[in-house]
Amino acid sequence: MELPEIQRRKTRSVTVGGVRIGGGAPVSVQSMTTTPTSDVRATLEQIEALAAAGCDIVRVAAATEADTAALGQIVAEAPVPIVADVHFRFRRALEAIAAGVHKIRLNPGNIADRQSVRAVIDAAAEAGIPIRVGVNEGSVMDRIDPARRAEQSARPMDELMVETIGEYLEVFAEADFHDLVLSAKSHDAMTTVAVNRALSERFDYPLHLGLTHAGTARTGLVRSVAALGALLAEGIGDTVRISLAGDPVVEAEVAKELLASLRLRQREGVEIIACPTCGRTQADVATLAEEVRKALSDVKRHVVVAVMGCIVNGPGEAEGADAAVCCGKAKAAIYRRGKYVRTVAEDEIVEALTTEVRMLLKE
Ligand code: SF4
Repeated sequence: MELPEIQRRKTRSVTVGGVRIGGGAPVSVQSMTTTPTSDVRATLEQIEALAAAGCDIVRVAAATEADTAALGQIVAEAPVPIVADVHFRFRRALEAIAAGVHKIRLNPGNIADRQSVRAVIDAAAEAGIPIRVGVNEGSVMDRIDPARRAEQSARPMDELMVETIGEYLEVFAEADFHDLVLSAKSHDAMTTVAVNRALSERFDYPLHLGLTHAGTARTGLVRSVAALGALLAEGIGDTVRISLAGDPVVEAEVAKELLASLRLRQREGVEIIACPTCGRTQADVATLAEEVRKALSDVKRHVVVAVMGCIVNGPGEAEGADAAVCCGKAKAAIYRRGKYVRTVAEDEIVEALTTEVRMLLKE
């Protein structure tokens, strides 16, 4: 029986370069470079690695004039649309727009005044590019007035973030600018769920989902997937970023896996299924699975490959896989579409399995 599909919430559609966000478009994957943007070569290298990992849109920091001076070349050579991330200095946004970026990420709360925000809106309208209005929990608290800060601290964070975005949007409404994506990020999974539910009820702009300073690889990954998975399963969210400390390519890979797991995006390439191993395990399943993944990393079509630790339960568990190996003691049985093919020695497993997959791909 077919499982029901996730019913996506209806949102407006915006276009970032060639990528559509919202309006029923597939949920897109975003990430952010960690290189100094002014280092054009290093930044382009990272953008290319992100694009190869399945990232649809890449954000770069536009912190200095040297950064925005580099944007023209980055935009021209990048294989995916580029978003300029602007904080505090609205002139960086104007320079980035002039350099041809495909979208601006702005936190109006840290831009000095409404006129400056209005100048960015007018320039974006003129260039025909969208703006993401993003707040995070740190930026919604008053940093100057301690009485106001105490009052804010007593309120639920999700409520405060939605209210703040509502206030920020006034200047965009005055300018009749609706080419917007909204985001509200917290480090806390449940706050992220609550704030995005509230945003999706109040606004029909597409939502960019993510956590802020989510944490190291393990905690950040669990928090992000918990929050984003819950929201996406409810049909909330049009574009995602998994924020992890470290290599941004991992962010893109995790986001792709999350979207494919929820059947919001089609899988591409090899999907490895590996058994969790137990007392019956006869081989180093984790190493084998990784070796098979690497050997087939060039495959673009979706193929399911199973690496199982025994021949007792392995064949049954791997039945739905396109190709499988079930390991015995110093040897292993190779299967294709559930049918036994042959037995090979331990050191021949990777080659035998990859040969089966490549033969399948020719069918
Ligand atoms: S497939 Fe075999 S080795 Fe792997 S977890 Fe199941 S019973 Fe254990």
